[in-house]
Amino acid sequence: MIIVLKPNTPQEEIDAFQRLFEQQGLGTHLSKGVNTTILGLVGDTSSMNEKTIAANHLVDHVVRVQEPYKMANRKFHPEDTVIAVASKAAAKDNHNNGFAFFGKSHFSVIAGPCSVEGEDQLVGIARAVKASGATFLRGGAFKPRTSPYSFQGLGKEGIHLLELAKKATGLPIVTEVMAIKQLEVMQNVDVIQIGARNMQNFDLLKEVGKCGKPVLLKRGLSATIKEFLMSAEYIMSEGNDNVILCERGIRTFDNYTRNCLDLSAVPYLKKVSHLPVVIDPSHACGISWMVEPLSKAAIAAGADGLMIEVHNNPEKALSDGEQSLTPKQFDSLMQKLEGYIKLEERSL
Ligand code: PEP
Ligand code: MN
Repeated sequence: MIIVLKPNTPQEEIDAFQRLFEQQGLGTHLSKGVNTTILGLVGDTSSMNEKTIAANHLVDHVVRVQEPYKMANRKFHPEDTVIAVASKAAAKDNHNNGFAFFGKSHFSVIAGPCSVEGEDQLVGIARAVKASGATFLRGGAFKPRTSPYSFQGLGKEGIHLLELAKKATGLPIVTEVMAIKQLEVMQNVDVIQIGARNMQNFDLLKEVGKCGKPVLLKRGLSATIKEFLMSAEYIMSEGNDNVILCERGIRTFDNYTRNCLDLSAVPYLKKVSHLPVVIDPSHACGISWMVEPLSKAAIAAGADGLMIEVHNNPEKALSDGEQSLTPKQFDSLMQKLEGYIKLEERSL
């Protein structure tokens, strides 16, 4: 961090100010020009608030050179993080020693309905997406809906049905938590999803940081990349390193698609962070026919996985039918993606 001091600051005040930082364990470097004095802070300044420093009467302005996120930062962790989730389906196929992975050379596809609606619906979809090559089953039991009059999810019963589908297929399950209390029923959930609307629910982030399960963190509707990574930092700072970042489209000025898929987030996040990055093309575009080209684009951009909504009867879905693929369409998509994924692995 670089602190530019006001001109004509008396030397004894500069000395006292400099000592303040040294007492906090930071190195300092003072550079005196003709008109300007600059105090450089050396060391980990991620927990320092530049606005508080700028409020000091000696300070003209502050420039942050180091990112405020540390645990999510590639500078502090150069190797890609690989997240391993035990999978009975993988074990049965003698695949990957019984694990499904996110990150580095591993590509995972999470598929399933937007909402868990019933046993036949969920288990049927789970069997179908597994047969097509999905490595995780998704399904919302607690649903964040814009309208309080829309289907709110089956709640605890939905979690129970996810457990049944996991038992039937061996696929690990991914589901969203909206409130801390809901974590009580998630013992058998494999990956906890934090939805876009809760990306900055800091108490919830801290709690999933303590729960010890991998977390799929979705980018907020209007969140900057820095805010997104700071939310990952919240989870990691509670001792949970298993965070998967999910870009699911952001708000822009246009509305020809539900959201705007920010594909540049993939190479950028992978450059500045070691965490795996997954793309959710379904929520990004909101239209089923666009899921295929966006999935291909996500792989080409370097994503570590996809999350895709699949429904046995999209026309009758209780949520997000218009963006859901049928199992048949999902199967065709997976066949087309195979070549792309292999190509990507070869280039690693
Ligand atoms: C979802 O995955 O069903 C969902 C609600 O996603 P998002 O939080 O990205 O809107
Ligand atoms: Mn949905």
